Amino acid sequence: MDRAVQQTDYDAFSCKISAIAKKYLPCQKQVEYCGMEDYAALHMAYGQGLKALSRRAYGKIQKAVNSGLPLMNYGTYLRTLAVDVEIMSFLKQVPKNSKVQIVNLGCGSDLRMIHFMSQYPQLTWVDLDYSESVSVKAKILKSNDCFLKTLGPPQNTDDAEYVSDRYLLRSCNLNIVENLLDILKEFTYPDVQTLVLTECVLCYVKLPQSQRLIHEMMSFYQTGTWVSYDPIGGEKKADKFGSIMQANLREARQLELPTLMVFNSPAKYSQRFEDNSKSTEIRTMWQYYVQEITDVEKNRLKSLQFLDEIEEVEIVLSHYVLLKAIW
Ligand code: SAM
Repeated sequence: MDRAVQQTDYDAFSCKISAIAKKYLPCQKQVEYCGMEDYAALHMAYGQGLKALSRRAYGKIQKAVNSGLPLMNYGTYLRTLAVDVEIMSFLKQVPKNSKVQIVNLGCGSDLRMIHFMSQYPQLTWVDLDYSESVSVKAKILKSNDCFLKTLGPPQNTDDAEYVSDRYLLRSCNLNIVENLLDILKEFTYPDVQTLVLTECVLCYVKLPQSQRLIHEMMSFYQTGTWVSYDPIGGEKKADKFGSIMQANLREARQLELPTLMVFNSPAKYSQRFEDNSKSTEIRTMWQYYVQEITDVEKNRLKSLQFLDEIEEVEIVLSHYVLLKAIW
């Protein structure tokens, strides 16, 4: 089961490479608002690093890129853009020279830290995931100057993790909340402004553990912002999206989504953060598409690949949410 969960990182990374290859990413807003330079080059460099370590993983990515369907690319484009914009908005409101920290739980192969750390010298970043994923990522990051120059020289000589003055990539099973807190107590400060990111991660964490994780993190940091992206099962009786998704993943991948049908609507997903927060905002990714993507950008997306059914996009995007909780 843990292995099946770890493998989902290659899905996320291949979706990103596919969206880059088809020119969905980077989009103008990522470049202009989020200052994301060299986006494609950094991801390609990471892909080459992965190829050198695991032909099998790289093969999976190549396959996904070749079959990159527009629906998948729309989803990846929106999720990536929405999270990037939330992080940038958070960083922009931090007073100049004040310390700030970001904790990316279940980081997988995400490379956002490079873009944001290069723009905010006072930012420290913590990436956590299972040990297998962390050691692959640590090896790749240490093998290329384009990552090393931003992350800083690693203090550890082994390849199991990456520790520098401003960056920590360490293994942690998020189901064991005590271990998570031990790491955060060692490397982060409770009184420094903190953003916690869970991008397609809480859906894999068991119910009581995920609730404890949210509660403990929000109690540990005095003030913070939580950005979370996840699928939701759908609450209407006739809505079969979640049950079909769960059955497919179980059969094809032996993968469970323990809370997909529990927090199955935006309101229920949001409730899990509300006890500890001053405010929460949640939108489905369809709402995000309708409200945030300009007509010019929508037309650009349409020109990238032939999209048969926008109704299908609406159904799928209505089953993914982006939440922001502030405490
Ligand atoms: N957040 C990354 C992104 O969006 O690109 C990766 C998303 S991937 C779908 C889910 C990630 O969560 C995987 O890397 C997986 O290993 C990690 N994950 C899920 N449950 C975890 C747990 N209990 N402990 C540590 N990592 C976990």
